[in-house]
Amino acid sequence: MTSLSLESTVETLNQQLAGLDLTGRLALVADLEGKAVFTTSLGIEDQVITAAIGKGPFGIEVSTLETGRLFNETVALIDRTEETYGILIKRFYPEQTDIDAYAATYGLNGFYDSVEARHACCGFRKLKPLAKALEGATYWITGLRRGQSGARAETPFAEFDADRNLIKINPLADWSIETIQAHVASEAIPVNPLHQRGYPSIGCEPCTRAIKPGEPERAGRWWWENDEKRECGLHVPEAASSTLPQSTTLASDLATPLASSIAR
Ligand code: SF4
Repeated sequence: MTSLSLESTVETLNQQLAGLDLTGRLALVADLEGKAVFTTSLGIEDQVITAAIGKGPFGIEVSTLETGRLFNETVALIDRTEETYGILIKRFYPEQTDIDAYAATYGLNGFYDSVEARHACCGFRKLKPLAKALEGATYWITGLRRGQSGARAETPFAEFDADRNLIKINPLADWSIETIQAHVASEAIPVNPLHQRGYPSIGCEPCTRAIKPGEPERAGRWWWENDEKRECGLHVPEAASSTLPQSTTLASDLATPLASSIAR
């Protein structure tokens, strides 16, 4: 599909998706022409979507970005979710050459030192693997919700992602966290035990902390950065986002700014 036809499809899709429940939304996308990929971070919203995909007859591919810095609880949940729903969750990993180049330039945990270094890490551990996960996809399904943060308050059901030339589908955009929690309980959906320990939003272990009562859901992500729009760039464009260049590039070029964006 061309960019123009994708863009013109978005408005219609938004109207159609608004009137459907989660299963109906997934069924609608699955029936469209083109490949649909759901990328899961194994967070509570994503588990709701994975469970619906697992129970339905949808030809939707499920993938995850195994950054190499995930919590053990998250890694264990990938296996458990596959067993529970009898599905395959495709893992996409960072390249070892990028890991080595980053460590040589910034240090393995250099992301604490600057936003640039953090974006570079998210770039090779998340953005590059995401690009592979979305290869050939026309529809990218995500677990974004409007209530997750101010930056996500306007999340539509469908939006055109010009950088990736696909349509992003957010079937839980209008779900509250309370609705999510009630659904998980009633359907006995397996979730990350860290949610019970004060982690509503879970990313890589070194970059996620538990939140305090009253803090926004995503306050525990990159908590040392003083920026309301802290994102890894998977979903919210950041002008200063960086990623690693091709693995053969010199380490001094690691922070080359990316014009485009870098889940979760
Ligand atoms: S969240 Fe932290 S560890 Fe994970 S890719 Fe981003 S900077 Fe690296």
